[in-house]
This record gives sequence, C-alpha cells and structure tokens, in this order.
Amino acid sequence: MTNLRHPLALLPLVALVVIALTALGGCNPREYAIDKAVASQVDFVPDPDHLGGWELQKITDRVYTFRWTWDRSLVVLTDEGFVVTDPYTPEAATLLKAALGKLAPGKPVHTMFYSHYHLDHVLGGAVLAPQHVVAHAGCERYWADLGDDKRIAQILRPTETITGDRVFHIGGVEIDLLDLGKTHTDTLYAFYLPGEKVLHTADLGLVRTVFPIGGPDMYTPGVLRQMDRLAKLDFDAWVPSHFGYGHKADFLEALEFARTVRRLSIESMEKYGVPSTGAGYVDAYRYVYDPLKARYGGYHGFDEEALFVVARSISGALLGY
Ligand SMILES: [Zn+2]
Repeated sequence: MTNLRHPLALLPLVALVVIALTALGGCNPREYAIDKAVASQVDFVPDPDHLGGWELQKITDRVYTFRWTWDRSLVVLTDEGFVVTDPYTPEAATLLKAALGKLAPGKPVHTMFYSHYHLDHVLGGAVLAPQHVVAHAGCERYWADLGDDKRIAQILRPTETITGDRVFHIGGVEIDLLDLGKTHTDTLYAFYLPGEKVLHTADLGLVRTVFPIGGPDMYTPGVLRQMDRLAKLDFDAWVPSHFGYGHKADFLEALEFARTVRRLSIESMEKYGVPSTGAGYVDAYRYVYDPLKARYGGYHGFDEEALFVVARSISGALLGY
C-alpha cells in the first residue's frame, strides 16, 4: 500500500498532472502546465468587459438576482426594504445600490446576508448601508486570521452572527438560512425562500459550468451530503453565486456532476493508488478525465478547468476530503 503520511507523498500527484498534460498534449510539460492551462484561466474567469458589466434579473415578483461579471447576488423586495446577499466588491456593491434605487427608489436595504466568509464575496457592503448584517459566527475567526490582508478593512462587519439553521421573516417574506456545516468552508449558508420557491447557494454547484481551479476550499463528502439535503427542498428557481441561474433540474444536474467526479476519482484511487510509473499516472488521470470529457465536455470551462478538477478530486479521494 502507498504511504501517504508524509507530505512528500503528494509529489506524485504533481507529477501525475504534468505527465497527464504531456500525454494529452503531446508536447512539453511547461507549455501545457503554464502557457495553456494557466493562460486559459483568463478566458474562463470573465472580467467586466467580457461579460457585459451587470444586470438585475427578475425571478419572481419579490425576488431578483443581480449579476456583476460572474458574481451573482440574491435580491428580495420585502415590505420593510431590500434583503440582499453578498456584496462581492466595492465596485459591484456600488452598481447594486444604483440598481436597487432604480427598482424601488428610497427603499432601504433592511438586511444583508453573507453566504460565507470568503473574501471574494464580502467586500464593499458599506455602500449599501444595510440596517442589519448577518453572517455565520465562524466568519469573524477567519477574518481575524487574515488581519494582514488589506481587504479585511473593506468588510462591513456583521451586526448579528448565527449558527445552525435559522428562519427569518422580513417584510412578509420567509427566508430560511440553512447551515451547510463543513462543505465550502464551515461558514456556509444556503438561502431558501419557500413562499417564492427559490434556492440561492454560494459556491455549491454551477449551471453547466466547471468550478475554477478545481473548486477551492471544498470538503467533498460534506458538499455531496448537503447538496442531497437541498435537493429534497421544493423549489423552482436555483440561483448559484456565480455564472448563470436556472431551475431545480439544473441543481440536480450539478449534483450528478459532483457525484460522478467523486465516484470516478474513488474508482481511480482504488484501481491505481498513487501509481509508481509514468504510464500509471496517465492511466489514473484518464480513468477520471475520459468519461467526464465524454459526458460533460460541453460545460463552460471544461477544457480550461479539467486538469484542476481531476487532480484535486483524485487527491481528495486519496486523502479523504
Ligand atoms: Zn467561496
């Protein structure tokens, strides 16, 4: 059996990636690892010019979604004011504020919810001047750890921190916050509006899109368990925090994609372990990559992100995350 106790045991995974890329490309590893895989991230992650700035899209009479580049917030129009999720950046929050002012002039932001602590979701909220700011209690611990990061000063701090599932009634709308435990961080909430049949999730599945760089900070067993839980809810619209939004069928497809990646990676791990030959590495990689390419090759970002997704998923299967 392979000894994975030493950190250097991970080195073969790096070799796996390079060798697999070489085999796939028939070219030198540097070109594929750097010039192709890394440069292609620019095409995958859209900037304001690539993705038309921002838009506010209506989902139900009460619920909208605000998209800025590839980031997406939920906006709820209640009798007491707006409820919004993640501001993302000062630039996005400023545009969101203008969009809210146009939709319902003079209506305040009653509550802003943070979905989780990650710094790509939580900057710039002060411009929205929310009356209440709610986040998972675990967020403050991470922000304290990241005190050297200048962006921390751009976080509007919570007025209320919570743990566990919580039901909010704001201006005639029920908003259920579902504590997803250890999944994508251990500070992650999903937002379920049973009266509107809307589910909003952050960094937990995308609509026919592959997560960048393998899906960072994910505990896969928790992700699958909580996606199973959310799949049992009664909702029509699913609004993920990045890229497009869709219906419940899209959520179920995202769950099936996540399950498939995990299953193939476990099978690859059981079949190859950490291989001891170059050919073995390529076989282990291709055991996961080939069926994914055949079934999901049309997903946005598949070719750009497959390397990261497969490498990360195989290491997750080996180490148990
Ligand atoms: Zn995140």
